[in-house]
Amino acid sequence: MGKSYQKQWTGVFGDPVDDNPTVVMEQAAFDAAGIPMEYLTIQVKKGDLEAAVQGMRAMNFTGINITMPHKGEVLQYLDEISESARIMGAVNTVYWKNGKLAGENTDGKGFLKSIQDGEVPIKGKKAVILGAGGAARAIAVELADAGIKTVTVINKNKAHGQALADIINTKTNAEGVFIPWENSVHIPEDTDILINATPVGFTDDKKPDIVYEDMKAGMTVCDVIPNKAWTGFLLEAKEKGLRTFNGLQMLVNQGAIAFELWTGEPAPVDVMREAMEKEYGVELF
Ligand code: NDP
Repeated sequence: MGKSYQKQWTGVFGDPVDDNPTVVMEQAAFDAAGIPMEYLTIQVKKGDLEAAVQGMRAMNFTGINITMPHKGEVLQYLDEISESARIMGAVNTVYWKNGKLAGENTDGKGFLKSIQDGEVPIKGKKAVILGAGGAARAIAVELADAGIKTVTVINKNKAHGQALADIINTKTNAEGVFIPWENSVHIPEDTDILINATPVGFTDDKKPDIVYEDMKAGMTVCDVIPNKAWTGFLLEAKEKGLRTFNGLQMLVNQGAIAFELWTGEPAPVDVMREAMEKEYGVELF
């Protein structure tokens, strides 16, 4: 066989997309695995998504990540959607499955993998999620799928919070409860897993406005904030000696799942984690 100059393409469609760091870990993974694949960070403006998906089909892309503002709209341009992504109404990873262009959502699965790797019990347990946006929705659906008993959503916007509780109640086997978030909010005493799924802590050291005395022995505390190992929220839990899981591990795990969907090979998770640690200048624990 002669030399091949051809590469396989994958990447991300979004807008804005310039600050999306996924290329760092996926490219490191492809290079480490010796796969001739290139990850492109591509600006696709609102209104251009259908053409972009047609383009990736025509150019035989191996797959693509989808980010804001396209995660919902993309469903209609795909051949097949996983059940959990359909319930969430959001796809973040597109890949080929038996000749069909399929949509999956790896965000909640990445979260789930973190706590499952840590052998945190889920079946029959009670979770509380702060926030009701895309990350909250993905985590809630995957926790329900893994057998959680109750997901309580605490959110400022009542319509958003109630809508997520309704999804849990009507589309999963778990019970969904909504608590409006007014001022400093109390966390139910019987909470097993507490998750911050708001962006609070991403750009500064702020913490979600909850009553921190309610973080009690036995709780597992998780954050989705991907650019630091220790957010103020997780530090509160650490001071109380509670188990913690950070958003950087979740980010790496969701990227690892995408890698596996695209390549059919196990992801070099350590390589991906090291690449992100270096990028963010933090060390995971
Ligand atoms: P969305 O915009 O979809 O949702 C944000 C949610 O947070 C909303 O429910 C909003 O409430 C709530 N919120 C925003 N600001 C505050 C505040 N000051 N106090 C209380 N609640 C607040 O965002 P996403 O769900 O897509 O993303 C949320 C975070 O998750 C981001 O920081 C993102 O980086 C992170 N993320 C991490 C991933 C990972 O792999 N680690 C994967 C995906 C996301 P309201 O409804 O009242 O407006």
